[in-house]
Amino acid sequence: MKPYAENDIIDILNSDDLQVLQELLQSATKCRLENIGDKVYLRGLIEFSNYCDRNCFYCGLRKGNRQLKRYRLSKEEIVQTAMLAFNSGYHSICLQSGEIDSPLEIDFLVEVVEEIKELSQKADKDSKGLGITLSVGELSYHQYKRLWEAGAHRYLLRIETSVPQLFGRIHPPSQKFETRVECLRALKDIGYQTGTGVMIGLPGQTAEHLLQDLKFFQAEDVDMLGMGPYIPHRSAPLSKLSPEQQLDPYTTTLKMLALCRLLMPDINMVASTALQSINPQGLRMGLKAGANIVMPVLTPDDMRGNYYLYENKLYKKPQELVEEINSCGYTLGLWEWGDPLHYKRRIKVKVGDA
Ligand code: SF4
Repeated sequence: MKPYAENDIIDILNSDDLQVLQELLQSATKCRLENIGDKVYLRGLIEFSNYCDRNCFYCGLRKGNRQLKRYRLSKEEIVQTAMLAFNSGYHSICLQSGEIDSPLEIDFLVEVVEEIKELSQKADKDSKGLGITLSVGELSYHQYKRLWEAGAHRYLLRIETSVPQLFGRIHPPSQKFETRVECLRALKDIGYQTGTGVMIGLPGQTAEHLLQDLKFFQAEDVDMLGMGPYIPHRSAPLSKLSPEQQLDPYTTTLKMLALCRLLMPDINMVASTALQSINPQGLRMGLKAGANIVMPVLTPDDMRGNYYLYENKLYKKPQELVEEINSCGYTLGLWEWGDPLHYKRRIKVKVGDA
């Protein structure tokens, strides 16, 4: 677990000492600048549907939440939003929804991805078109393959916790830890740039659990991480649990980001909306902790209020985010995909071209 011994990591995660946090952030910033430079890439996030067949105990989109007004954007609305993003300089988008798995929904998404690729490549013949990340849950190998062949090349599937026992406490029995791990491995096998992540500050989650998460990320050799603090949603059963113990979600998330940057210097890492929602300094501090990706929400205004995975989700205008990134002294990586360096190296090794 270089550069820190496991005991040191446990001590850092359990520490209340602000000096410890400051030193960790300084090391992470240095590591980031030395390994991947000062660029921050934007991924325009289009939350195209809030329907979900699952019932995760922490999530406001869960099927059992009958108070939620459900929506699904049309193909035209998604493609139009994606092309607006492309023409504004975002060369990567992320299409996200609740879990989809019906054949019709997959067919729909395949068509959407194909059309976005075609139109964006036509619009700028010198570019590879829009880079498309998907985040639509656990699918079959065949379904992932179809979406890859349609033109998606990144996939985010958060494991939420790598501790099977804790996973079992925050998901219904029908949702299996092993299935999610199999999905992550299928995505890598197909060729996707593969991202995962965990929630931090869950009731009952300990520093030892988070250490296991760090080891999981390393063992699975992931290319991207999207981690955020646990923020309860009043319609989700987990919010009714009074935590018998809880690490501070905000500072522990910053520590986890910084530790990940130090342990996996060349991956892409998101300064999540949840981190920005829980603290006004979240974006600035997330970048300091080594994050290099920001995801401005491009979901149409009249729909986005119905995409609350957690309470009090913050929506900053893209321009506000850009100004904040610039004011922190980072360079905005517009007009490029911003693929993780880790992926490029991993693929070279795979084809014996290291
Ligand atoms: S976390 Fe994802 S799969 Fe689970 S209920 Fe929410 S949207 Fe559905």
